[in-house]
Amino acid sequence: MSITRSMMEIVREEMDRHGVKSLKRLKVRIGELTAVEPEALRFCFEAYVKGTPLEGAVLEIEDVPLMGWCAQCSAEFRMEYFLRACPECEGASVTKTTGHELDIVSMEAE
Ligand SMILES: [Zn+2]
Repeated sequence: MSITRSMMEIVREEMDRHGVKSLKRLKVRIGELTAVEPEALRFCFEAYVKGTPLEGAVLEIEDVPLMGWCAQCSAEFRMEYFLRACPECEGASVTKTTGHELDIVSMEAE
């Protein structure tokens, strides 16, 4: 719930800045590692916008999978949370490239 709230605060700030009064569509990107459930976010969003100028806005959620990259062989792969070695060369220089996202991608106003 607090994630939704801080996200919506950003949206409100952006709307104020651009003098936008009502919102048509909001697109967000959620990384796998954030542990945010899209359905929970949607539920919180609906509850949050009810009775506000944001009511009726469509929430679009884009899931971002956890991906890894190997510094040894430059392989990119779908990463499991517990994975510590590269599936290609078994090297240990593996870094997470995506999965931490919690971004507002775009906002569409009336
Ligand atoms: Zn590798």
